Amino acid sequence: MGQRRFSFTAGLAVAALSLSACGSGSGDAPKVAAKPSFDAGTTMAKIAAAGKLKVGTKFDQPGFGLKGLDGKLAGFDVEVAKIIAGAMGVTAENIEYVESPSKVREERIEKGDVDLVAATYTINDKRKKRVTFAGPYYIAGQQLMVKSDNTKIKGPADLKANPDQKVCSVTGSTPAEQIKPYLASDAQLVLFDVYDKCANALRTGQVQVVTTDNVILLGFVSKSDKAFKLVGQQFTKEPYGIGIKKGDVKFCEFINKTLKDNKAAYNKAWSDTAGKVEGASPAKLPVAAACA
Ligand code: GLU
Repeated sequence: MGQRRFSFTAGLAVAALSLSACGSGSGDAPKVAAKPSFDAGTTMAKIAAAGKLKVGTKFDQPGFGLKGLDGKLAGFDVEVAKIIAGAMGVTAENIEYVESPSKVREERIEKGDVDLVAATYTINDKRKKRVTFAGPYYIAGQQLMVKSDNTKIKGPADLKANPDQKVCSVTGSTPAEQIKPYLASDAQLVLFDVYDKCANALRTGQVQVVTTDNVILLGFVSKSDKAFKLVGQQFTKEPYGIGIKKGDVKFCEFINKTLKDNKAAYNKAWSDTAGKVEGASPAKLPVAAACA
């Protein structure tokens, strides 16, 4: 058994990363490499030596990063972080999660508060000036969510003619910017720091529309007991990346390789979390972009 496990794990993750030893774990759960070795001075070597990984993620997004009443985090971003941690020999228990709302993600990385951010984080040129992105590891798209009985808003094209329909999004997010051309004026836009505040405002009638990535909205729909629905088509592309320190190309390449070599764990991570939600399409790991 020990021998079989060795070769199974090695084939999946360890050998390809030129790590020095076997792993542990079972089935498709993220593997934890035992005694991995990395070039001295790399971020991977530092993390492996410390045996700890600090991950910036969301705490309020069903399906991606949601803090339960037991204090535990659950979601696709959390599972992706576990796969990356495992390849450096860091167990799930040794991951420290730091809440990272949209607006503070770059700052968290720059200040070194976290080793990486996995937080429905769209790769774009503006953010690339401050951080390096591994990935993409998923491609989402912006959409609208309204109350199930809303008949006025069927898509972004209906917003301008209905300025009384307030639209909620999150400060520092791409959807908050991309929705602006569809609005009658900036007064139609309501911004909070996190998405569950938008979902609550929709519930109480303070806003009539919430906009962000389709898969985030699907998570809120799934928790709404049919009170919310998605309308219209996706009207942007949101490629999710893992944010790390600007210029850390070796760490970026390591993350890309780890995800590519652990597709079974990646697929399971999706189907156990965001992929469970009605309307979610199956995840397919996109081809990673060049690290810079
Ligand atoms: N993916 C978009 C972004 O990075 C929206 C989701 C979010 O705010 O995390 O801005």
